[in-house]
Amino acid sequence: MWMNLINQADIEEVARKILQIGEIVVLSGAGISTESGIPDFRSPGGIWSRYDFNEYATIDALLANPVKVFGFFKQFIKPLSKATPNPAHNSLARLEEAGVVKVVITQNIDNLHQRAGSKNVVELHGNALRSRCMKCLKVYPTDEIETNKYGFPPICPDCNGLIKPDVILFGEMLPEEALKKAYEYSSNAKLMLVIGTSGTVAPASGLPYIAKKNGADIVEINIEPTILTKDVTDYFLQGKASEIMESLKEKILYGK
Ligand code: NAD
Repeated sequence: MWMNLINQADIEEVARKILQIGEIVVLSGAGISTESGIPDFRSPGGIWSRYDFNEYATIDALLANPVKVFGFFKQFIKPLSKATPNPAHNSLARLEEAGVVKVVITQNIDNLHQRAGSKNVVELHGNALRSRCMKCLKVYPTDEIETNKYGFPPICPDCNGLIKPDVILFGEMLPEEALKKAYEYSSNAKLMLVIGTSGTVAPASGLPYIAKKNGADIVEINIEPTILTKDVTDYFLQGKASEIMESLKEKILYGK
C-alpha cells in the first residue's frame, strides 16, 4: 500500500519546519487533482499520452480549427464539473483557515481549491468554469456555453466573437495581475510547498527557483521525482498528495 511507502519521519520533520516558519506559500499543479478524477497532462495515461498538445492546446490550433479544439475542450471539461475536492485540497483550506497557508498559487483550472474553501487562490492559468468572448471579453458561465445555446463553436451574441473557456492556452499570455502576485508571494516566501507539478510549464515552473533564490526552503510532494527535485527541492515527500497532505495537516494542527 502507498501509505506504507510514505516516510512519516520526513513528514514530521517538515511539519516541525512549517510550524517554526509559521506561514507558507503553496504552488499546486495538475497532480493534486488526479485523485479527484481529473487526469493530469504528463503522467502515464495523462492527457498528452492520448492527444498531441500542439493540435489541441495552442491558441494557433484553436484559431485554425475551432471545431476540433472545442470538441477536445468539451471532453476535458466534462470530468471537471463532476469532480470534488480531495483531502489534499481540503487540508490546504484547513491550513489556510488556521493561518498556516498564506496563499495557494495554482496552475489548475478546475476550481477545486476554491470549492474546498481556500480563499486566497492565485489562478495562473484561468478557470474552466468561466468562458470568455475573445473579442469583447464578456464572461459567460461555461455551463451555459455547454448547452450549445450560443452554437458550436460558441459565438458571442453581443459582438460575434468566438467564446472560449477562460483558460490559458500555449501561446497566450498569462493574466498579468495573477503573475505579478505569484512573483511577489514567491519572492517573499520562507517555505514553498510544491504539490503535484512536473515543473515543466513556464513561467509557473520558475516560481520555486525564485523562492529558493530568495532563501525559501522548498518542500515537494509528488508520486515521483521531477526536474525540481534535483534542482531546488530541500525536502521531497514521495507519495500521493491526498495522503501526505492529510498527514501533514494532522501533524501541524494536532501534533499527531
Ligand atoms: P503535469 O501533468 O505536467 O504534471 C503532474 C505532476 O503531478 C506529475 O509530476 C505527476 O507525477 C504528479 N502527480 C500525479 N498524480 C499525483 C498525486 N496523486 N499526488 C502527487 N503528485 C501527483 O501538470 P502541471 O505541472 O500542473 O502542468 C500541466 C498544466 O496542465 C498546467 O498548466 C495546468 O493548467 C494544466 N492542467 C490542469 C488540470 C486541472 O486543472 N486539474 C488538469 C490537467 C492539466
